[in-house]
Amino acid sequence: MSTASMGLHNRKNPHVRCRRCGKYSYNARKHRCSHCGYGETSKLRNYSWLNKDINGRRKN
Ligand SMILES: [Zn+2]
Repeated sequence: MSTASMGLHNRKNPHVRCRRCGKYSYNARKHRCSHCGYGETSKLRNYSWLNKDINGRRKN
C-alpha cells in the first residue's frame, strides 16, 4: 500500500504559464507553448478547430 503513491512523483504538469496566451501551456522543457505556439512560431498558432476558443463561440 505504501508504494502506491510513488508513481505520482513525476506527474507534475510540465507546462508553466505562457506569457503570450496566459494559459498554462508553455512547456518549460521544450520552450514552446502548446496552445498558441509561443517559442515555436512568431505567429499565433491557429487552427480552424480552435475557433471556439478564439471567438468564444463556434462558427457553423
Ligand atoms: Zn501560449
